[in-house]
Amino acid sequence: MEQERRFDEERILNMKTNQYSGFHKLTMEQRAAEVAEFSGLTEEEIGRLTNPGALTNEVADHVIENVIGTYQLPVGVAMNFLINGKEYVIPMVLEEASVVAAASNAAKMARAAGGFTTSYTGNIMIAQVQCIGVANPYFARQNILHHKEEILAIANEKDPVLVKLTGGAKDLEVRIVDSQIGPMVVTHLLVDTGDAMGANAVNTMAEAVAPTIEQLTGGTVKLRILSNLADHRLARATATFTKEAIGGEDVVDGVVAAYAFAAADPYRAATSNKGIMNGIDPVVVATGNDWRGMEAGVHSYCSRGDHYTSLTRWEKDADGNLTGSIELPTPVGLVGGATKIHPAAQACVKILGVKTAAELAQVIAAVGLAQNFAAMRALATDGIQKGHMKLHARNLATVAGATPEQLDAVVAKMVADKKVSVDYAKEILAGMQ
Ligand code: NAD
Repeated sequence: MEQERRFDEERILNMKTNQYSGFHKLTMEQRAAEVAEFSGLTEEEIGRLTNPGALTNEVADHVIENVIGTYQLPVGVAMNFLINGKEYVIPMVLEEASVVAAASNAAKMARAAGGFTTSYTGNIMIAQVQCIGVANPYFARQNILHHKEEILAIANEKDPVLVKLTGGAKDLEVRIVDSQIGPMVVTHLLVDTGDAMGANAVNTMAEAVAPTIEQLTGGTVKLRILSNLADHRLARATATFTKEAIGGEDVVDGVVAAYAFAAADPYRAATSNKGIMNGIDPVVVATGNDWRGMEAGVHSYCSRGDHYTSLTRWEKDADGNLTGSIELPTPVGLVGGATKIHPAAQACVKILGVKTAAELAQVIAAVGLAQNFAAMRALATDGIQKGHMKLHARNLATVAGATPEQLDAVVAKMVADKKVSVDYAKEILAGMQ
């Protein structure tokens, strides 16, 4: 399978690598065929994305409650991603124009200095066990730690599959949390959830250890639940954008200044991080993962200091190039949740070509960094609307009824006249007839 994803020189020249030029100009069918070939998807597998209704009502009825049907979103692919020397095509499921194009463009610029480099701290999720009414919380804390092996063994009895794969529950942390109802003894079970996101796995373990925690503390256990602040499951990505590739040293300085604003001001950080999630959430959704869990993890991670801040950092290196770095909790998996249930999610995982949750997490980090770079560069140069408007104009022209042959001309006129609306698109179309 690995070999299927390697490409020789000839294929590069044939535009069959991920480094397409003009991929967006292909028809939807041609794009799907190229992606299927790149990723080795069968006709049936690519059909799960190209044909509506891959998620049947029958399956959907078992996923959530009170189901009345299904809901579709576009699947696009971001191109040009080179991560740790490997080519990736990134499936993205979302409704916002310009995100996929921006990610592809940023990834292309990153290639000049070798693309993205990533690392990962491991698949460790945290389950919290809250214990209240403890008379001597600091003594109780140590008592829990004295019995660590016993507690881990109780947790691990609950998931022999996981224990066989990863060792399961590995460690304990015990914190004293002051609150309006007094100090709480909060035990963290640190569990290696392997290729699962792990919420169900760790919640079950947290419930199992509760009686022992009560015995050891003399208190009462209340909540037993995963923490989405998965700060033992961090993915990291870095990239250098050469000043030549991104439009000169002024652009480098512009991005660094834009970053300084986001780092210092929560109002700006919120929007900058939203731009990062523009890249991350669509991959999380495409792979059938829980995007609420991902969002909660990221925003809580950005709030650990004295104020909410930027998830990324942008600096100028000694050669005047732009360097970007990102570090974020990545509670995502390839087993469990909807990943194995949703047929389209399985096809997206195959397009992505990731084999482990660790690899998925690192790809997500790289996409987040790329998306942030694209937004920062646009903001620091032309402003965000220029790129947006052209893509928005394409959407509106389509809504107005432009055929594929008419589309470019209608968009060009709307943008040139700075009148981007459905009504104006209709007016232009009427003039063309
Ligand atoms: P799961 O329970 O369906 O699957 C995990 C289990 O699969 C493991 O416990 C293990 O026994 C087994 N398994 C088989 N092969 C494995 C492998 N290679 N690696 C690891 N485990 C393997 O799923 P989950 O990941 O525990 O739960 C994910 C779901 O929980 C998501 O859909 C999420 O929406 C939901 N959830 C989230 C939260 C939250 O984020 N706070 C809370 C509750 C539930």
